[in-house]
Amino acid sequence: MGIDAVTLMAMAVFEDARASRRNAEVTRLAALMREASSVVALTGAGVSVPSGIPDFRSPGTGLWTRVDPMEVAHIDSFREDPERFWSFYSERFAALTEKEPNGAHRALARLERRGLLDAVITQNIDLLHRAAGSEEVVEVHGSIARCRCLECGGFVPLADARARAAADPHGIPRCERCGAPLKPDVVLFGELLPSVAMARAEELSEGADVLLCVGSSLEVHPVAGLPLITHGRGGKVAIITRGPTPLDDIADVRLSGDVVEELDALLAELDDEHRG
Ligand code: ZN
Repeated sequence: MGIDAVTLMAMAVFEDARASRRNAEVTRLAALMREASSVVALTGAGVSVPSGIPDFRSPGTGLWTRVDPMEVAHIDSFREDPERFWSFYSERFAALTEKEPNGAHRALARLERRGLLDAVITQNIDLLHRAAGSEEVVEVHGSIARCRCLECGGFVPLADARARAAADPHGIPRCERCGAPLKPDVVLFGELLPSVAMARAEELSEGADVLLCVGSSLEVHPVAGLPLITHGRGGKVAIITRGPTPLDDIADVRLSGDVVEELDALLAELDDEHRG
């Protein structure tokens, strides 16, 4: 037997071991979800990567490779130079509105329809959970659905804001009522998270028997504190994402494959239990 054959056999054994370990984890997660009276999902950028929306934290893939995010996407930059802000973001937000939900979004919507998931808390601003059919969506970083006037509090749909920007000599969409520049209703660096959404997210995390964290590196606070709330109340934390997270130590279930494949495996497992 040549060295290549030995290597291949060893790799096959390793793959088998990894697959069966993964199956065991998926089986355990499915069992936890069936026993739970409340399951809540917490999703991050990794859920939207299969839809072609890069995770800006992955080196070389994001829109931040040539721009300092702390600079352009900071609330101070918006206030100081709304023209520059909108010239950078107008096209980018428009591009997001053309993206489609993927298998991970659809799997979570299906779990909710089947009564196995209460809500999705998301850090994503792309509206793809709603597009996939999820009903209870808590957008803790806001969304691209609309823009807001920081002066008078008025709201305008994003498409209207872009039309106003196109008609403005400086490319700045302005509030009809007070003339102030409109800001996308997404959380910029240096801004607090929307208090109503964050309070709802905390309430859901407190009541969750299982918190299903999908595609989040769990590094951005205060959202990264939500699994600690669930864990502190005796709930289980499942983490489904590639790469390590700072909360792997408290995870009861840890799956590190592709998010779409892992969620598909979970749905298949839940179907099996249903039949059995
Ligand atoms: Zn206004």
